Amino acid sequence: MAPVPQVVLTIAGSDPSGGAGLQADLRAIAVHGQLGAAVVTALTVQNSRGVMHVHPVDSGLVAAQIAAVLDDMPVAAIKIGMLGNAEVAGAVADAVSGTSVPVVLDPVITSTSGAALLSDAALHVVRDRLAPLATLVTPNLAEARALLDGDEPDAARLADLLGVPVLLTGGHAAGDLVTDVLDFPGEGRTREFSAPRIPTPHDHGTGCLLSTSIACSLAAENSVVEAVEHGRRCVRAGLVAARGLGAGPGAVLLLDLPRGDGF
Ligand code: PLP
Repeated sequence: MAPVPQVVLTIAGSDPSGGAGLQADLRAIAVHGQLGAAVVTALTVQNSRGVMHVHPVDSGLVAAQIAAVLDDMPVAAIKIGMLGNAEVAGAVADAVSGTSVPVVLDPVITSTSGAALLSDAALHVVRDRLAPLATLVTPNLAEARALLDGDEPDAARLADLLGVPVLLTGGHAAGDLVTDVLDFPGEGRTREFSAPRIPTPHDHGTGCLLSTSIACSLAAENSVVEAVEHGRRCVRAGLVAARGLGAGPGAVLLLDLPRGDGF
């Protein structure tokens, strides 16, 4: 008989075109041979051309969905993505504060196409209540800048501010080399991960794939550094496989685990 799969819970927004959010997270979890539980925080109306509408789910319903899963399933790790508004962010913080499993927070603020996916009021809840509960926070440059009140993105500063490890992703910076920076609070030691850029316009959902793959690796009891290295390999494989399926930028596509990756 096949081994019992680990359960990885994603708490995120729905992207009906399947490129990002819950749909992308569930696909990535399945590739890891794990079972994806999925709590929806917001319905978006979007396709490859952009986000047309965002409808946050009632925060009580979000809390009830999380409780239904955590009360019943042996959840081994949690990934948190788009939250939408302050009420939902607060409900998620309350719901995960009692768990002891690894939590990866992708602090989604705007889509690459420029749509707001988090209200201004919610940013404070994410920074002050949710991020401190995380095992790892994975902002991109714009998200780190917002969390630092407009200051220059700095992984070490943000890790000290939040009190938890931060992986600052560098994919949105210019240049042929992409560098992600990992910092642990109070450690004063920066780990940099660099690789040549994979040139493709099809990068929708990279943040979702990264944070979910890291959660899958933490569920398998790997260290934060090992999980980050694995997550980066998954994103690179997803970028290589990405194809444009709509009129706009296509989504990263993780079809298989990178060769030889035991995550
Ligand atoms: N839609 C949802 C539901 C998301 O969670 C995200 C990102 O996390 C996005 C859209 C934005 O994706 P991208 O910035 O890659 O277009």
